[in-house]
Amino acid sequence: MILYDYHIHTEFSYDSNIKGNDLMCKAISLGFKDIAITEHLDLLPQELSVYGLPSIQKYLIYCQQLQAKFPELRLRMGIEIGDYHKVKDFAEGLIRGYHFSPILGSVHFLSDHTNVAIPLAQPLDPSQIEDYYIQNLELVANCEIDILAHLGVYKRYYTSSPCESHVRHLIDQILRTIIKRDIALEINLSSLRKPYGNIIPEPDILERYRTLGGKKISIGSDSHHIDHFGLVSEAVIAHTHGFEMPRLD
Ligand SMILES: [Zn+2]
Ligand SMILES: [Zn+2]
Repeated sequence: MILYDYHIHTEFSYDSNIKGNDLMCKAISLGFKDIAITEHLDLLPQELSVYGLPSIQKYLIYCQQLQAKFPELRLRMGIEIGDYHKVKDFAEGLIRGYHFSPILGSVHFLSDHTNVAIPLAQPLDPSQIEDYYIQNLELVANCEIDILAHLGVYKRYYTSSPCESHVRHLIDQILRTIIKRDIALEINLSSLRKPYGNIIPEPDILERYRTLGGKKISIGSDSHHIDHFGLVSEAVIAHTHGFEMPRLD
Protein backbone atom coordinates (compact mmCIF):
# COMPACT_ATOMS: atom_id res chain seq x y z
CA MET A 1 0.00 0.00 0.00
CA ILE A 2 1.25 3.49 -0.74
CA LEU A 3 1.80 5.97 2.05
CA TYR A 4 -1.01 8.53 1.99
CA ASP A 5 -2.96 10.84 4.28
CA TYR A 6 -6.34 12.24 3.34
CA HIS A 7 -7.07 14.49 6.32
CA ILE A 8 -4.71 17.41 6.95
CA HIS A 9 -5.32 21.03 7.94
CA THR A 10 -2.91 23.82 7.07
CA GLU A 11 -2.70 27.47 8.03
CA PHE A 12 -5.68 28.00 5.77
CA SER A 13 -7.84 26.48 8.51
CA TYR A 14 -8.46 28.72 11.53
CA ASP A 15 -7.21 26.07 13.96
CA SER A 16 -4.01 24.86 12.25
CA ASN A 17 -0.57 26.41 11.94
CA ILE A 18 0.93 24.02 9.39
CA LYS A 19 2.70 25.80 6.54
CA GLY A 20 2.00 24.18 3.20
CA ASN A 21 5.69 24.26 2.30
CA ASP A 22 6.67 22.45 5.49
CA LEU A 23 3.97 19.86 4.92
CA MET A 24 5.07 19.10 1.37
CA CYS A 25 8.75 18.87 2.37
CA LYS A 26 8.02 16.57 5.30
CA ALA A 27 5.68 14.37 3.27
CA ILE A 28 8.25 13.96 0.50
CA SER A 29 11.05 13.21 2.95
CA LEU A 30 8.92 10.52 4.64
CA GLY A 31 8.03 8.86 1.35
CA PHE A 32 4.36 9.86 1.13
CA LYS A 33 2.99 9.58 -2.39
CA ASP A 34 -0.43 11.12 -2.03
CA ILE A 35 -1.85 13.62 0.46
CA ALA A 36 -4.96 15.75 0.74
CA ILE A 37 -5.28 19.08 2.45
CA THR A 38 -8.80 19.15 3.84
CA GLU A 39 -9.48 22.62 5.19
CA HIS A 40 -12.49 23.25 7.38
CA LEU A 41 -15.71 24.50 5.91
CA ASP A 42 -17.63 25.19 9.11
CA LEU A 43 -20.86 26.99 8.40
CA LEU A 44 -22.92 26.84 11.58
CA PRO A 45 -23.86 30.32 12.85
CA GLN A 46 -21.73 29.99 16.01
CA GLU A 47 -18.71 29.17 13.84
CA LEU A 48 -19.27 31.70 11.09
CA SER A 49 -19.69 34.51 13.59
CA VAL A 50 -16.27 33.74 15.10
CA TYR A 51 -14.14 32.50 12.20
CA GLY A 52 -15.88 33.92 9.16
CA LEU A 53 -16.09 32.34 5.76
CA PRO A 54 -12.87 31.05 4.18
CA SER A 55 -11.99 32.18 0.67
CA ILE A 56 -12.27 29.08 -1.49
CA GLN A 57 -10.64 30.89 -4.40
CA LYS A 58 -7.55 31.71 -2.31
CA TYR A 59 -7.43 28.11 -1.07
CA LEU A 60 -7.52 26.85 -4.65
CA ILE A 61 -4.58 29.09 -5.61
CA TYR A 62 -2.69 28.03 -2.46
CA CYS A 63 -3.03 24.36 -3.43
CA GLN A 64 -2.18 24.97 -7.08
CA GLN A 65 0.99 26.84 -6.13
CA LEU A 66 2.08 24.09 -3.74
CA GLN A 67 1.47 21.40 -6.34
CA ALA A 68 3.42 23.36 -8.97
CA LYS A 69 6.35 23.75 -6.58
CA PHE A 70 6.37 20.07 -5.51
CA PRO A 71 5.26 18.03 -8.54
CA GLU A 72 6.76 14.82 -7.16
CA LEU A 73 3.99 14.51 -4.52
CA ARG A 74 0.32 14.24 -5.44
CA LEU A 75 -1.52 16.98 -3.58
CA ARG A 76 -5.29 16.91 -3.49
CA MET A 77 -7.47 19.87 -2.66
CA GLY A 78 -9.98 18.39 -0.28
CA ILE A 79 -12.38 19.85 2.22
CA GLU A 80 -13.86 18.86 5.58
CA ILE A 81 -17.43 20.06 5.76
CA GLY A 82 -18.45 20.21 9.40
CA ASP A 83 -22.02 19.24 10.25
CA TYR A 84 -22.77 19.21 6.51
CA HIS A 85 -26.32 17.89 6.97
CA LYS A 86 -27.27 21.01 8.93
CA VAL A 87 -25.95 23.45 6.33
CA LYS A 88 -26.44 21.39 3.19
CA ASP A 89 -27.80 23.95 0.74
CA PHE A 90 -25.39 26.65 1.90
CA ALA A 91 -22.38 24.32 1.64
CA GLU A 92 -23.40 22.93 -1.74
CA GLY A 93 -23.76 26.45 -3.08
CA LEU A 94 -20.29 27.41 -1.86
CA ILE A 95 -18.45 24.39 -3.25
CA ARG A 96 -20.30 24.29 -6.57
CA GLY A 97 -17.92 24.96 -9.42
CA TYR A 98 -14.86 23.73 -7.51
CA HIS A 99 -13.45 20.27 -7.66
CA PHE A 100 -12.82 19.18 -4.10
CA SER A 101 -11.50 15.68 -3.71
CA PRO A 102 -11.87 14.22 -1.19
CA ILE A 103 -14.92 15.75 0.45
CA LEU A 104 -14.91 14.74 4.10
CA GLY A 105 -18.06 14.91 6.16
CA SER A 106 -17.85 15.19 9.93
CA VAL A 107 -19.95 15.90 13.00
CA HIS A 108 -18.63 18.46 15.47
CA PHE A 109 -21.81 19.60 17.25
CA LEU A 110 -24.67 17.83 18.99
CA SER A 111 -28.26 19.03 18.75
CA ASP A 112 -27.79 20.75 22.13
CA HIS A 113 -24.81 22.68 20.61
CA THR A 114 -22.16 20.75 22.56
CA ASN A 115 -18.93 20.84 20.58
CA VAL A 116 -17.63 17.26 20.70
CA ALA A 117 -14.36 18.01 18.86
CA ILE A 118 -12.82 19.83 21.83
CA PRO A 119 -12.27 18.69 25.43
CA LEU A 120 -15.66 18.19 27.04
CA ALA A 121 -16.62 19.75 30.36
CA GLN A 122 -17.98 16.34 31.33
CA PRO A 123 -18.45 13.02 29.56
CA LEU A 124 -21.48 12.81 27.28
CA ASP A 125 -24.54 11.21 28.83
CA PRO A 126 -26.15 8.25 27.02
CA SER A 127 -28.72 10.42 25.23
CA GLN A 128 -25.98 12.75 23.96
CA ILE A 129 -24.02 9.74 22.67
CA GLU A 130 -27.18 8.60 20.90
CA ASP A 131 -27.64 12.07 19.43
CA TYR A 132 -24.01 12.07 18.24
CA TYR A 133 -24.57 8.94 16.17
CA ILE A 134 -27.96 10.12 14.92
CA GLN A 135 -26.19 13.23 13.58
CA ASN A 136 -23.65 11.02 11.82
CA LEU A 137 -26.44 8.92 10.32
CA GLU A 138 -28.18 12.02 8.98
CA LEU A 139 -24.89 13.21 7.54
CA VAL A 140 -24.06 10.02 5.65
CA ALA A 141 -27.65 9.47 4.51
CA ASN A 142 -28.12 12.94 3.04
CA CYS A 143 -24.81 14.45 1.93
CA GLU A 144 -22.52 13.85 -1.02
CA ILE A 145 -19.23 12.99 0.65
CA ASP A 146 -16.30 10.71 -0.18
CA ILE A 147 -15.21 9.95 3.37
CA LEU A 148 -16.91 9.86 6.79
CA ALA A 149 -14.33 11.53 9.03
CA HIS A 150 -13.53 10.79 12.68
CA LEU A 151 -16.56 8.69 13.67
CA GLY A 152 -16.45 8.66 17.47
CA VAL A 153 -14.51 11.92 17.82
CA TYR A 154 -16.16 12.78 21.14
CA LYS A 155 -14.03 10.06 22.78
CA ARG A 156 -10.67 11.71 21.99
CA TYR A 157 -10.28 13.18 25.46
CA TYR A 158 -11.64 10.16 27.31
CA THR A 159 -9.15 7.91 29.07
CA SER A 160 -11.22 4.76 28.51
CA SER A 161 -14.02 3.61 26.23
CA PRO A 162 -17.51 4.73 27.24
CA CYS A 163 -20.42 2.32 27.03
CA GLU A 164 -21.91 2.41 23.54
CA SER A 165 -24.03 -0.73 23.72
CA HIS A 166 -27.22 1.34 23.41
CA VAL A 167 -26.07 2.82 20.08
CA ARG A 168 -24.72 -0.31 18.36
CA HIS A 169 -27.79 -0.37 16.12
CA LEU A 170 -27.09 3.22 15.06
CA ILE A 171 -23.43 2.47 14.34
CA ASP A 172 -24.61 -0.48 12.23
CA GLN A 173 -26.99 1.80 10.34
CA ILE A 174 -24.19 4.29 9.70
CA LEU A 175 -21.92 1.53 8.42
CA ARG A 176 -24.63 0.04 6.21
CA THR A 177 -25.43 3.47 4.80
CA ILE A 178 -21.84 4.34 3.90
CA ILE A 179 -21.44 0.93 2.26
CA LYS A 180 -24.59 1.47 0.21
CA ARG A 181 -23.58 5.02 -0.74
CA ASP A 182 -19.95 4.13 -1.50
CA ILE A 183 -18.53 6.40 1.21
CA ALA A 184 -15.17 5.41 2.72
CA LEU A 185 -14.75 5.08 6.48
CA GLU A 186 -11.83 7.07 7.88
CA ILE A 187 -9.35 5.72 10.37
CA ASN A 188 -8.65 8.95 12.22
CA LEU A 189 -5.31 9.15 14.03
CA SER A 190 -5.92 12.30 16.09
CA SER A 191 -7.00 10.35 19.16
CA LEU A 192 -3.67 8.49 19.17
CA ARG A 193 -2.04 11.72 20.29
CA LYS A 194 -4.78 12.50 22.79
CA PRO A 195 -5.73 10.79 26.08
CA TYR A 196 -7.83 8.11 24.37
CA GLY A 197 -4.76 6.59 22.72
CA ASN A 198 -6.66 4.53 20.17
CA ILE A 199 -7.69 5.01 16.58
CA ILE A 200 -11.26 6.11 15.90
CA PRO A 201 -13.35 4.32 15.01
CA GLU A 202 -11.76 1.55 17.04
CA PRO A 203 -10.67 -1.83 15.62
CA ASP A 204 -13.88 -3.57 16.72
CA ILE A 205 -15.94 -1.11 14.65
CA LEU A 206 -13.61 -1.61 11.68
CA GLU A 207 -14.22 -5.35 12.03
CA ARG A 208 -17.95 -4.79 12.15
CA TYR A 209 -17.66 -2.66 8.98
CA ARG A 210 -15.78 -5.50 7.29
CA THR A 211 -18.38 -8.04 8.40
CA LEU A 212 -21.18 -5.91 6.97
CA GLY A 213 -19.36 -5.75 3.62
CA GLY A 214 -17.40 -2.50 4.00
CA LYS A 215 -14.48 -2.27 1.61
CA LYS A 216 -13.13 1.28 1.64
CA ILE A 217 -10.97 2.72 4.39
CA SER A 218 -9.22 6.09 4.35
CA ILE A 219 -6.35 7.07 6.64
CA GLY A 220 -6.41 10.58 8.07
CA SER A 221 -3.98 12.07 10.57
CA ASP A 222 -6.23 15.13 11.07
CA SER A 223 -2.99 17.07 11.55
CA HIS A 224 -3.17 20.64 12.81
CA HIS A 225 0.53 20.93 13.68
CA ILE A 226 3.48 19.75 11.63
CA ASP A 227 4.49 17.31 14.40
CA HIS A 228 1.13 15.56 13.98
CA PHE A 229 1.91 14.69 10.40
CA GLY A 230 3.82 11.57 9.41
CA LEU A 231 2.74 9.25 12.21
CA VAL A 232 1.10 6.73 9.90
CA SER A 233 2.67 3.57 11.31
CA GLU A 234 2.87 -0.11 10.44
CA ALA A 235 0.29 -0.70 13.18
CA VAL A 236 -2.13 1.71 11.54
CA ILE A 237 -1.56 0.30 8.08
CA ALA A 238 -2.23 -3.19 9.48
CA HIS A 239 -5.81 -2.07 10.20
CA THR A 240 -6.30 -1.39 6.49
CA HIS A 241 -5.33 -4.92 5.52
CA GLY A 242 -7.94 -6.35 3.17
CA PHE A 243 -9.59 -2.96 2.63
CA GLU A 244 -9.25 -0.65 -0.37
CA MET A 245 -8.21 3.00 -0.43
CA PRO A 246 -10.88 5.50 -1.45
CA ARG A 247 -10.96 5.84 -5.23
CA LEU A 248 -10.58 9.56 -5.86
CA ASP A 249 -10.25 11.31 -9.18
ZN1 LIG B 1 -13.27 17.46 12.30
ZN1 LIG C 1 -10.18 17.72 10.59
